[in-house]
Amino acid sequence: MSELRHRSAVSPLRRPMVGRQADRRGIRANQRLPLIDEVVRAHRPEDPLHCLRPGVLAAAARSFVAGFPGDVLYAVKCNPEPAVLRALHSGGVRHFDCASPAEVRLVRQLFPEAEVHYMHPVKGRAAIRGAWFDQGVRDFSFDCVEELEKIVQETGGEAGLGLFVRLVPPKANTMYDLSGKFGATPAAAVDLLRRARAVAERVGICFHVGSQCMEPDAYARAIALADAVARESGVRIDVLDVGGGFPVSYPDVTPPPLGDFMAAIADAFAATGLGDAGCRLWAEPGRALVAPGVSLVVQVQHRRGDTLFVNDGVYGSLSDAGAPGFRFPARLIRLDRSASGEQQGFSFYGPTCDSADRMQGPFVLPADAAEGDWIELGQLGAYGSSLRTAFNGFDQARLVEVRDRPLLETPGYDLIAVAA
Ligand SMILES: *Cc1c(COP(=O)(O)O)cnc(C)c1O
Repeated sequence: MSELRHRSAVSPLRRPMVGRQADRRGIRANQRLPLIDEVVRAHRPEDPLHCLRPGVLAAAARSFVAGFPGDVLYAVKCNPEPAVLRALHSGGVRHFDCASPAEVRLVRQLFPEAEVHYMHPVKGRAAIRGAWFDQGVRDFSFDCVEELEKIVQETGGEAGLGLFVRLVPPKANTMYDLSGKFGATPAAAVDLLRRARAVAERVGICFHVGSQCMEPDAYARAIALADAVARESGVRIDVLDVGGGFPVSYPDVTPPPLGDFMAAIADAFAATGLGDAGCRLWAEPGRALVAPGVSLVVQVQHRRGDTLFVNDGVYGSLSDAGAPGFRFPARLIRLDRSASGEQQGFSFYGPTCDSADRMQGPFVLPADAAEGDWIELGQLGAYGSSLRTAFNGFDQARLVEVRDRPLLETPGYDLIAVAA
């Protein structure tokens, strides 16, 4: 084979089952969308069914945008589904944090006017050129001198460049640490800021405290560190980007209200005095904007004791239920007879032949859950469908837009508000 062919891992979920997808003018009125149970009754789906709640996605975006004292960039990797992006846009998100050429192109296609920021600290050279020359991207993050030089070389030293130093933040209480791979130490960041100021029009500091961060003060500590680094460098910074990490509810996990995070950030930022000098605040939420906006409906194919064999698993949209051990809110859907009032915890096996395709849970369901039942698993809008693989051929799934409320509320978000 002399020619290299393109191949993406898994096709996006662009096959709506009922109705048309939301159009550019805004999302459809929620009232006209079906309920999940109606869809299951009508289609009796044997493939995993992704149920997207455009109204909830828009409402989560609106809550965050209203509460955050700065610009909100959606972290596209969390869920790049076009219908999800459109719902967030309708909720007021106008900036997007992208980390690959494909993400940049997707956002550009959907929203030609949006601001796209390339916030991956290690990029390929062609990716930088394509973003700069073809897609109008101006902001790039980096955490070392080599990447800084790469960005300057590939953008040709033209005007308008924005450079963001990714800083390792102090440790925090989170589900995922995102500073193992990227980030400059404070001493290195001082040097990088000075170098960036010499070549860039806009200079910022960014960090990520870790995903599903339960501690508002983690942001305050990181902001104080960023301020100390900026002072030490003597460099004026234009943007302080506090990254993502904002948490949502999971079974038995209720985070502090969104307002506590916003207040901690606003107070810490005010204490630095950076705002008075014209510095703007940015955030890059992923999980918090999209987790409650999508449920996954799986079907039970077999029951063995307290373990249910279901038609999606850790190689599909339930990756986080595997080794990371996330639990998701579960609801049994049975069409022909009522379910037992008694509840119990179940573990799941996914559909692949790998014994690692196991989800410990426990997922709490009626004790008589059985073959043929469906199960709605909630809070799967974040890092669910975006982590699907085609392993073992189990990559078939369907997508539908629904008007159900989320299975769990996260304090501080008004998700009941119906989209316009
Ligand atoms: C993944 C990621 C985010 C989003 O993180 P959440 O924890 O989902 O909010 C934001 N910024 C960067 C640079 C990321 O890598």
